[in-house]
Amino acid sequence: MRHWKKHTPEQVQARVFEALAGNVDYRERSPLGLPASHLDEKVFTPQPSLLREAPFLSTLIQNPNHIGCHTLGDSESFFAGTQELERELIALCAEDILQGAPGGFDGYVAAGGTEANIQAAWVYRNYFQREKGASAAEVAILTSSDAHYSMHKAANLLGIRLFEVAVGEEDRSLSRLAVEQAIERAQAAGVRYFIVVCNMMTTMFGSVDKASVYLEALQKAGASFKMHVDGAYGGFFFPFSEVAHDLHFGNEAISSITLDAHKMVQAPYGTGIFLARKGLMKYAYTEEAQYVQGLDATLSGSRSGANAISVWMILMTYGPHGWHEKIHILNYRTAWLCRQLSEKKVPFYRHPGSNIVTVKSSAVKAEAARKYSLIPDSHGQPSWYKFVVMDHVTIDRLGACLQEL
Ligand SMILES: *Cc1c(COP(=O)(O)O)cnc(C)c1O
Repeated sequence: MRHWKKHTPEQVQARVFEALAGNVDYRERSPLGLPASHLDEKVFTPQPSLLREAPFLSTLIQNPNHIGCHTLGDSESFFAGTQELERELIALCAEDILQGAPGGFDGYVAAGGTEANIQAAWVYRNYFQREKGASAAEVAILTSSDAHYSMHKAANLLGIRLFEVAVGEEDRSLSRLAVEQAIERAQAAGVRYFIVVCNMMTTMFGSVDKASVYLEALQKAGASFKMHVDGAYGGFFFPFSEVAHDLHFGNEAISSITLDAHKMVQAPYGTGIFLARKGLMKYAYTEEAQYVQGLDATLSGSRSGANAISVWMILMTYGPHGWHEKIHILNYRTAWLCRQLSEKKVPFYRHPGSNIVTVKSSAVKAEAARKYSLIPDSHGQPSWYKFVVMDHVTIDRLGACLQEL
């Protein structure tokens, strides 16, 4: 662990206040040209005594703008203090969690997994257009039929097509044959460049794709591609489950990964994370962003620095061992749930190392699903309902639900 070390609450507090001291103070220095200031004082009355021991609230009140990407080139100097913690967070995720080589990654805290996924597709579409002379019609997203709908948003916004790989109805996995068939369909329709998106835990099933299945099929088809991993659901969970996998930066084929801290990490909304190998962000630069120091290679534009600080604080408070323990407890409860379902002969799907358990709707009374807020795959015609084993989903609560299924 190069970046990830457990911090005491005092150390977390000291680092965040030190970072805030490195930002512009609107009260002391009077920056006259920024369309920015601290939060409105008439509404958000800062009570100094209350804020002194509250680093996150203090950051919210000071309201730093983390516009742009801070792992490359220049950034707005007014917010240099807190940008440093965002850089540390990006390196922690890419290197300490996802096995990337030191100093090899760019990234930023996005509005969510949706934005990070669109950012990835945007970077690659531009890469194929600029480097290979591709037209938009020759570029397509290739992903499983269980992929998140944000990939469809990306295709729609970027004017490219999306080809789905069918998954097995029971095991939700991609077969080599299904991948080959999807590639053939795309190539027959004129696609020459693929933006491949592997899932590290799908939203409905928690299923995990194998990069190798795509790689073998793409190589056989002689196709040009870039590979992205959607770890919005699983990125802070699956790498800690100790199940062997190939969805990390130690795998040369993978160029970028999306994480979402506002799911399993329980950070505030607005904490998606985009990570990419160095050399790729430049395909998303907007040269016209001349008033921003260091230009802007992100989709967002202005964004709150407090979001990055919140994720940094959570991860540093747990430390790597604390985080492992937390995931193991959730995995233990998930395994317990699966054992009970097996005993009751309730058909279900779970990928080992995931905290999502999806049961066939035929085994669930609609009333119980409503009472316990189980989530259907489709609100109109549910075929499956899912459990997500989070902090608040204790064995006692699961037990009560199982009795009424
Ligand atoms: C939730 C989710 C997303 C989108 O994330 P938002 O943070 O809601 O934008 C993308 N991919 C997967 C697999 C997800 O579970």
